[in-house]
Amino acid sequence: MAKYKINTTCVQGGYTPGNGEPRQIPIVQSTTFKYNTSEDMGKLFDLEASGYFYTRLQNPTNDFVAGKICELEGGTAAMLTSSGQAANFFAVFNIASCGDHVVASSSIYGGTFNLFAVTMKKMGIDFTFVSPDCTDEELNAAFQPNTKAVFGETIANPALTVLDIEQWAKAAHSHGVPFIIDNTFATPVNCRPIEWGADIVTHSTTKYMDGHGAAVGGCIVDSGKFDWMAHADKFPGLCTPDDSYHGITYATKFGNAGAFITKCTAQLMRDFGSIQSPQNAFILNLGLESLHVRMARHCENGQAVAEFLAKHPKIEYVNYCGLPGDKYHEVAKKYLPNGSCGVVSFGLKGGRKAAEVFMKNLKLAAIETHVADARSCCLHPANATHRQMTDEQLTACGILPNLVRFSCGLEDKEDLIADISQALDKVQD
Ligand SMILES: *Cc1c(COP(=O)(O)O)cnc(C)c1O
Repeated sequence: MAKYKINTTCVQGGYTPGNGEPRQIPIVQSTTFKYNTSEDMGKLFDLEASGYFYTRLQNPTNDFVAGKICELEGGTAAMLTSSGQAANFFAVFNIASCGDHVVASSSIYGGTFNLFAVTMKKMGIDFTFVSPDCTDEELNAAFQPNTKAVFGETIANPALTVLDIEQWAKAAHSHGVPFIIDNTFATPVNCRPIEWGADIVTHSTTKYMDGHGAAVGGCIVDSGKFDWMAHADKFPGLCTPDDSYHGITYATKFGNAGAFITKCTAQLMRDFGSIQSPQNAFILNLGLESLHVRMARHCENGQAVAEFLAKHPKIEYVNYCGLPGDKYHEVAKKYLPNGSCGVVSFGLKGGRKAAEVFMKNLKLAAIETHVADARSCCLHPANATHRQMTDEQLTACGILPNLVRFSCGLEDKEDLIADISQALDKVQD
C-alpha cells in the first residue's frame, strides 16, 4: 500500500481487494492448499517460490494482518504468532542458541522475564538484566563476546518505566547485534521504535491491538535495517547455508529486508508451530481498524485518572509518565509525544490492606490479570501475580505491597473517576 498516515493504515493497511473480491479480509479457514503438479509444490519447499502449503507455517489471513502491523511499524516483513510469549521467544531464539548470551532490560513483563531467566536459560542461553535507568557505561559493561541481541520494552508492563530507545539501540549496534523491542503497551500509534533505531519489534497483540479481550496473539516485525552479513560470524543461522532447505543462505537469498522473518517462519514456525489461528487474526484486524481511535481515548482516561489520583489524600504515589513529576516524563516527551497508554499504577497509604479494600469496592473496573482492554480492569500484584512473595521480597523487586495496576478502558473518564473515588472513600484512614 502507498504510504498513508498511521490512522489510514490502521483502517486499510495490509489488504487491498481486487475487482469483485471481499471488502473485509477473508478468513482462509483451511489447513492446506492445492497444487496442480508436484513440481509446483516442490518449489515452495525449496523456498524458490512463495506461496502457501500448510497453515502451521503460513496462512493468507495472517499475512494480510501481519502486513498491516508491518506497515504500522514501518518494517519490511512481519509474521503473526499464537501469543506475545511466542513472539518474544521466536524473536530471540531466531538468532540466539545454546552457548549464546542476550542483554535485556530488567524492567520487562513477568512472563518474558520467566521465559528468559528460567526456560531459555535451561536451553543454554544466558541473559544479563540491566536497569532501564542505566548509564551508557553500565549498559556496555553487560555485553560479552557471545552476546547476540539486546531486548527491552518501550513502556514496561507493569512497572511503566519508559526506555531510552536510542541509547539501547546505539549500545546494541556498537556491539554488532540487533535491538529487539516489545512495543505492546505503546503500540505503533504512540511510538514506532524502528524510527529510533530498533531492529526488530514484537507485540502481544492480545493487548491494545485486539483491544477487546477477545483473542490471544503476537507479532514480530523486522525493520530490514540490520546488516546480518556484516556480522556473519555472530549469526551463522542467517549467514551460512540451511541444510533443511537445500543449503540456502537466508541473508543472501532474502537480503536484510526478508532474511529474519523468512528464517523464523521456515524454521521456527515449521518446527514449533506456534501459529495464530486465522480466526484470531481476523478478530485482531477488527481491533486494528480502530486502534488509532481507541489509543487516544485510553490515554485521555489514563491521564485523567492519574491526575485525580496524584491529588488524592489516600494515595501515596502514582506511576504514569504523562504526569509532569513522573521519573519518566522527560523521556516520554521524546518517544511518546502523543501519549503513552491507559495503564496507571499507584500505591495506597495504608499498604496491602488498603489496596484490598479499595479493589473490593470498585464497581466498574473488574479484577483481572488482563490489561489494555476496552473495559477497565485492575490487579493487585501482591495478591495475584506476585502472591508467593513476602512484603520484603516485593519491595526488593519494585512491586510494593500496596501497588495497584489500573488499566483504563474506554468508558467515560468521569464515571471511572467517580468509581475510583467511591472505592477510596471506603478505605479507612
Ligand atoms: C502480555 C504481554 C506479553 C505476553 O503476551 P501474551 O499474548 O499474553 O502471550 C508480552 N509482553 C508484554 C509487554 C505484555 O504485556
